[in-house]
Amino acid sequence: VVLAATTPAPHPRSAAAPVAPQAVEDRVEQLMARMSLDDKVGQMTQVDRAALTTTSDVATYRIGSVLSGGGSAPTPNTAQGWADMYDAFQRAALSTPLGIPLVYGVDAVHGHNNVHGATIFPHNIGLGATRDPELVRRIGAATAEEMTGTGVDWTFAPCLCLARDDRWGRTYESFGEVPEIPSAMTSIIDGFQGAALGGPTSVLATAKHYIGDGGTEGGVDQGDARITEQELRAVHLPPFRAAVDRGVGSVMISYSSWNGVKAHGHRYLITDLLKTELGFSGFVVSDWAGVDQLDGRRGFTGAEVAAAVNAGIDMVMVPTDYELFTGLLKAEVQAGRVPQARVDDANRRILTKKVQLGLFERPLADRSYTSSVGSAAHRELAREAVRRSQVLLRNNGVLPLGRTGRYFVAGKNADDIGNQSGGWTISWQGASGSTTPGTTILRGIRDLLGGGATVTHERYGNGVDGSYTAAIAVVGETPYAEGRGDRPGGLPLDREDAQTIARLKAAGIPVVVVLVSGRPLDIASQVSGWDAALAAWLPGTEGRGVADVLFGDHEPTGRLPVTWMAGSAQQPVNDGDGKAPLYPLGHGLGYGDRAPSGFTNGGTAVGHHRR
Ligand code: BGC
Repeated sequence: VVLAATTPAPHPRSAAAPVAPQAVEDRVEQLMARMSLDDKVGQMTQVDRAALTTTSDVATYRIGSVLSGGGSAPTPNTAQGWADMYDAFQRAALSTPLGIPLVYGVDAVHGHNNVHGATIFPHNIGLGATRDPELVRRIGAATAEEMTGTGVDWTFAPCLCLARDDRWGRTYESFGEVPEIPSAMTSIIDGFQGAALGGPTSVLATAKHYIGDGGTEGGVDQGDARITEQELRAVHLPPFRAAVDRGVGSVMISYSSWNGVKAHGHRYLITDLLKTELGFSGFVVSDWAGVDQLDGRRGFTGAEVAAAVNAGIDMVMVPTDYELFTGLLKAEVQAGRVPQARVDDANRRILTKKVQLGLFERPLADRSYTSSVGSAAHRELAREAVRRSQVLLRNNGVLPLGRTGRYFVAGKNADDIGNQSGGWTISWQGASGSTTPGTTILRGIRDLLGGGATVTHERYGNGVDGSYTAAIAVVGETPYAEGRGDRPGGLPLDREDAQTIARLKAAGIPVVVVLVSGRPLDIASQVSGWDAALAAWLPGTEGRGVADVLFGDHEPTGRLPVTWMAGSAQQPVNDGDGKAPLYPLGHGLGYGDRAPSGFTNGGTAVGHHRR
């Protein structure tokens, strides 16, 4: 199959119908019969687009998958640019003798977040607070539609980690700390993949990171989960079981270790537990360079490649040294250290998903969906998700705020799209500032109030005085992602935030604190001095949803998906561990609730919304 540079996709994806199982199997076997070892090694190889020396290397090395990974900058700036890039790589794959299309992966972990102008949904911790699997399914479907418009076929989502220690920098990628919440939220897989792979806007989903990524000692990223098999199965396995039951197409292995053994080389976990016991029939992908660090050193060795593939990894996110990797894997097979049958099994798994996705019939980007990127309908859905994710931690009656009056808005996260979106937004670690179009929380407040009230904004709280009705301090964290987000020293409010809040309080007016953060912060010693506290998590581009709740257009209905620590020293603190947190899992006030004075433990004091 060779498509000329100007040939559009033969059929739009909207003409798609799922391929019948027998037809899929026949197709795969016909291909397998014609594939050389080089072809098969190539299918098992995933390369970062930025590492490809030339686009034609996709054909030369028979590369089965390309990704735009976290560290892969610069990326195209527009949805159109993404579609053009995707098509160029896909055409290179189609130019090979067998014309096997590649599958292109990205981390679309809260919307199609690499793409400027895409709708950015709340990070998973906020979605966990909604306790609404159907809402989360719709978010998956909207994300898949935006991806379809750029050609991208595969998202490395959902993260099904259980954030057991909030010092971990990936806590916000977790739907919650108890297995019930991420298990229920595997509904997002139905949104991504559709009723069956191969639908018009269906993309491949990934359950990650298998297994125990959120259970490491001290909340250290890529650390060691020192837990019994009983705990592994009771706490960390259920969401993966739920994902497999929903037909998730791929599973990504965790960088972390289980009792000192890295998951990337763990045959029991990957082959025996995931593939055999759970019956996972999709393909297993490694994490970024997860195989070449198996021995603790940078750079691939044949032994590492053999250990990972023999453990059950089907596709290796190389992601850069593809010449080295393909050479090593081929040599390991030729030497008999990786059985041919293992290579064939990996290829069958990968090719089955490619056939089911409809990539052979419809390999190129479906540009009829390009205008879905950042559409008004998707932004409205995101705004709904923001509203539903708000958790009212404390309220002495000041909330909801009235629609008239004089409001003073302060804090570093009041008017910053980058800050309210967090990591994995446009760039890997995210960044402060106007990184992508959206509505800041301040803008949302102004839009909601219209001309009915006065809104004054000054980041540090300078100029506030007793003439204001109330002050709104929007504080919390600034963007980070894996690695850089670990806080072994604890999770205090930073000095700027403390000073901003102090200035507002000194004016003698009610102070509402909105926490924009990827996790609970250590507020125990301050919160009793605030009139209200709202956990907004990392809401994404639709900050109006926060205003909708502050001003009472919508009730706060979010419930804590994680236990809120009474102090950093209490970490790890989780539901049912007998510690006394500031707020328990499931805490979340409504506007009918009033906190008693001296209130410290909202969940038990007013006792509602459990779990
Ligand atoms: C992360 C994964 C991600 C991959 C590709 C890794 O560093 O751990 O979650 O999917 O990069 O960007």
